[in-house]
Amino acid sequence: MYVSELGEQWRRSRLRPEVVHLDSAAAGRSSNAVIGTISAHLWRETERGSYIAAEDRVEEIARDKRDLASLIGHTADELAFRESARAALRALLTYWNLPISTTVWVAKNEFGPNLVEFERRGFAVRPLPDADIAGHVDTDALENMLQFEQPDFIHICHIGAMSGIVQPVTRIVEIAHAAGVPVVVDMAQTAGHTPTVTGADVVYGTSRKWLAGPRGVGFVAVRKDALRPVEIESSEAFVAGRLGLGMAVSEVLGIGQQRVFRELALIGRATRERLDGIGSWEVLEPVDEPSAITTLAPPPGWQPSDVAAARAKLLSLGILVTCADSWRAPLTTEQSLLRVSPHLDVEREDLDKLADALRTMGY
Ligand SMILES: *Cc1c(COP(=O)(O)O)cnc(C)c1O
Repeated sequence: MYVSELGEQWRRSRLRPEVVHLDSAAAGRSSNAVIGTISAHLWRETERGSYIAAEDRVEEIARDKRDLASLIGHTADELAFRESARAALRALLTYWNLPISTTVWVAKNEFGPNLVEFERRGFAVRPLPDADIAGHVDTDALENMLQFEQPDFIHICHIGAMSGIVQPVTRIVEIAHAAGVPVVVDMAQTAGHTPTVTGADVVYGTSRKWLAGPRGVGFVAVRKDALRPVEIESSEAFVAGRLGLGMAVSEVLGIGQQRVFRELALIGRATRERLDGIGSWEVLEPVDEPSAITTLAPPPGWQPSDVAAARAKLLSLGILVTCADSWRAPLTTEQSLLRVSPHLDVEREDLDKLADALRTMGY
């Protein structure tokens, strides 16, 4: 039985998985229409010549850009494609005219590889305080801090790679803009997953996770009136992949984005309710956090290698989840966690199977 009323529709439009696939935060499962769009374009490139095949699709590409831009709160002319979210961030930091000694404030859920990008450029990075143990940014503290000092920009992972916590980006943007500070948002985990129209100045993300588009396509949108226009798009491109992402976005919009977000939040709730306390694993999100990502802290005394072994054991039982090691969120934890990220087609039996497996793995 599907957890969501959208489960059957989502499942019918793609192949049945060979595993219990609870790993959309790593990569979602593309639909038959997405795969068909990609392969059709690859065939056309061979038949017509790649550049002509791309010209033939100019209107689709323009429409796809409008759709994706509207999903993330920007206009089509502000949107550019790169190969990944990380490539998008790198391009932004390369072309953005930032001062020599740049200061950036981040939330504690900041993605480790993003911190590496900041540190490599010599940025001074300052973590914002949390408002609660779940790890939401303390927006009152932020407002206070900004009265005394303004960073060059604030960078927020809307959802990080090691937690299902959704940062209050809309509120952060309001507060930052009142102080004249631009906000950059990493939407790698939220595009197609939670509402992403936030008013932020720059947003970027990736195709392959919750949008269930292909791998190898990322995007970035830079608000025209906020920054000097920057030329970010790579000239060489996986055009078929971009068309595949366009199809994936149109499927989400076809269902209704708000409906997708609502159902994914309900799935997160059902997952947390089902898993909390099983075999002494601990769910780290509040039960009603509006996301479909659940992270589980291992029983007391477990080492990171034990969590990796648990993930391997689950995979041997046909259950795919992520072992999230601390490099993903180094400001938060040194522990490894299991990250469970079902998409719309998750079934109650999938969660039962995971719960049973976890129970037998508790010490
Ligand atoms: C996956 C992820 C990224 C990186 O995305 P790529 O497309 O692999 O570069 C960045 N930030 C967060 C929070 C992520 O989860």
